[in-house]
Amino acid sequence: MTITDVLSGIDEVTPWQEALYKDLHRHPELSMQEHRTAEKITAELTALGYDVHRVGGGVVGVLANGDWQTVLFRADVDALPVEEETGLPYASTVTATTPGGAAVPVMHACGHDMHTAAALGAARLLATHRDAWAGTYIALFQPGEEIAAGARAMVDDSLTAVVPRPDVAFGQHVLGALVSGHVGTVAGPVLSTAVSLRITVYGKGSHGSMPHLGVDPVLLASTIVVRLQSIVAREIAPDDFGVVTVGSVQAGNSANVIPESATLLVNVRAYDDSIRDHIVAAIERIVRAECEASRTPREPAFEVFDSYPLTTNDTDVTERVTAALVEALGAGRVEKLAPQTASEDFSVIPDAWGTPYAYWGFGAFTEDQEVLPNHNPGFAPAIQPTLRTGTEAAVAAALAYLAR
Ligand SMILES: [Zn+2]
Ligand SMILES: [Zn+2]
Repeated sequence: MTITDVLSGIDEVTPWQEALYKDLHRHPELSMQEHRTAEKITAELTALGYDVHRVGGGVVGVLANGDWQTVLFRADVDALPVEEETGLPYASTVTATTPGGAAVPVMHACGHDMHTAAALGAARLLATHRDAWAGTYIALFQPGEEIAAGARAMVDDSLTAVVPRPDVAFGQHVLGALVSGHVGTVAGPVLSTAVSLRITVYGKGSHGSMPHLGVDPVLLASTIVVRLQSIVAREIAPDDFGVVTVGSVQAGNSANVIPESATLLVNVRAYDDSIRDHIVAAIERIVRAECEASRTPREPAFEVFDSYPLTTNDTDVTERVTAALVEALGAGRVEKLAPQTASEDFSVIPDAWGTPYAYWGFGAFTEDQEVLPNHNPGFAPAIQPTLRTGTEAAVAAALAYLAR
């Protein structure tokens, strides 16, 4: 039995899998609210004969098939507060309530519905071809990726006690950077580490006509925004990677009132923990120095949120998986992936055991489609060959370690 033999059964699962994908797309759920999705996954895995556990808001199915290696495949399942503009017959019309109480439209604008449907397809192919492999296959469905909460929630809810230690772990993401039908792998850093900061600087309120009697936090925030862009330009080596984005500046409500404070939301990306730490320290240094220069009455406040670890692919695992992908898809459909500036909490799961992992991308759009970025209101991958490719890639990677 080879990878190709197992994948020859893919046509039989396609109608079921496409219906599943459309159903998930039509019913997106916000991060850490994926109740219907989890029920659906639980029902499918149970029907396939998996031993199913609900852990930290996610679902894990374990298929024990003899004494050999253990493979974990992770899919993320959450959607985003985005209003869908795809015009598709299976477009979302769902709204939900955020933890803050706001009613928002919800859309699978990052393709996690594709990840879920592909992972369930792989789970089904492996369950129906148990003669082709030995060992233990763990199909893990993680909530809350978009807010960097779900992987941690599963680990904190005793994931490592519920399922056996995997020898290797895998994850994948649909990407506009690749053509649908293609996959891309890379050893080493594949996704950046990211951290967000909420910075509040304090001034002294005054009438707009009397700036000398106040301390202006709007001017202070403006100098900070400009000065923060010097960090990557002047402190990070030109061949290292870093991004500093100030995504939000909020202060005041009126033209003639100097407000009391200003709040900045800053996002940092890097391919190296030490560079991330350098940038965060530089931000704090610059903010404190600018506050000092503006004679602020209070120290600035710093709050770190949405912290994502670096995703670094193990070299041996990546080589073995890449060889299996070439065998399954043909060399013409397997590319070298450029490291992506996006971030993921996937690695929290293998890191809970110290398990090596590989994370790869698979293409979202066919050559005649407009390529849209993830999180765009029009993000709708071509169902095929995207779904089929994600399924083939998951099966090929698993069999690279489990095939008899
Ligand atoms: Zn996303
Ligand atoms: Zn995503």
